[in-house]
Amino acid sequence: MKKTKIEWCDSTWNPVTGCLHGCEYCYARRIANRFSYEGQTLDAPQELQRVWLRDGKNDARHASTHVLRYPVDLISGRTCPYPFGFAPTFHRYRLDGIQRWQKPQTIFVCSMADLFGEWVPDEWIEEVFAACEKAPQHRYLFLTKNPFRYEQLHQKGILRKSENMWYGYSATKDSYDLWFDRQYNCFVSIEPLLGEVEITDTHWVIVGAETGNRKDKVVPQKEWIESICRTADEMNVPVFMKNSLIPVVGEENMRREFPW
Ligand code: SF4
Repeated sequence: MKKTKIEWCDSTWNPVTGCLHGCEYCYARRIANRFSYEGQTLDAPQELQRVWLRDGKNDARHASTHVLRYPVDLISGRTCPYPFGFAPTFHRYRLDGIQRWQKPQTIFVCSMADLFGEWVPDEWIEEVFAACEKAPQHRYLFLTKNPFRYEQLHQKGILRKSENMWYGYSATKDSYDLWFDRQYNCFVSIEPLLGEVEITDTHWVIVGAETGNRKDKVVPQKEWIESICRTADEMNVPVFMKNSLIPVVGEENMRREFPW
């Protein structure tokens, strides 16, 4: 678990890393590939599991899993945080890390992955949930671009209903017809805001602009943000604006609201 600069949580925890959605603006992919040890010698005392893609196809039907070991570079002796770059990887050895933190934290789970991508086996998700339940002092925020997986997991009885678990989905533009079940804590993270977004039922809204120096970076229009805030107010749900919006709305109009 790591302290983070992400403004709406205290820490990040990444028992699973890697994602196949392929978003152009993905900062996680850049980091993972930069610190990848692909092709180097790995050794290890513990277990690490990876989805191995055959034929380069980003499809769970073409995947099988490999059980490997805790990734240590035999030459440098250093651990490898992303031994397979941005390929989906289960770092099982990280699961109990949150139990050692006694001080309650708001944790963004899998900031370097989409834990609910269709390629992630149910078993990985169940193990992550079980680890969260062993450390109930923390609040857990999950985030996905594939919220329909929440519905599937709900139907299978796998999704956990708990006060300290929050299920978020990512939106960037357009309207979304998404799963929402009031018995679970749900939120939407509109980041980076790339166009007008029509939000639907939710318990919390996070909004932020694209950061970094990408060539085609989108600077959001003030009207897009005002429209989101209006809808949130009509639904009586809190809004958290990230600092990246200060140049657009002005510090005096920033809202940094939490639902807890
Ligand atoms: S969903 Fe998130 S982690 Fe996955 S590619 Fe897009 S930005 Fe990156």
